[in-house]
Amino acid sequence: MNMELRRTFQFEAAHLLPRLPEGHKCRRLHGHSFTCEVVVAGECDPELGWVMDYADIKAAFQPLWERLDHRYLNEVPGLENPTSEVVAAWIWKELKPRLPLLVEVVVAETCTARCVYRGT
Ligand SMILES: [Zn+2]
Repeated sequence: MNMELRRTFQFEAAHLLPRLPEGHKCRRLHGHSFTCEVVVAGECDPELGWVMDYADIKAAFQPLWERLDHRYLNEVPGLENPTSEVVAAWIWKELKPRLPLLVEVVVAETCTARCVYRGT
């Protein structure tokens, strides 16, 4: 059985989007309670009954969380223009080597808008 696990993380961070026109609200410094959903997929081990340990997903994400939570994202190398799209691709790039089963990263700035990246 090929199955998918989804683990949600939350981080608080400030950002502004410097490439937007003057007057756009997202160009002003503001913050979000971001959520990031990390999705892995793989064979469900018939003996253990799981794809992998959720704790290992958390452990893989932890170093990234340290770099994102309560940060000004524009100051994080690679996040100089921290749109949800850029943040999702950054998380993918940093996480994939630590989490080979990674298939999707979802970044949401609000409850109603999210970006999905599948590494292509
Ligand atoms: Zn924003």
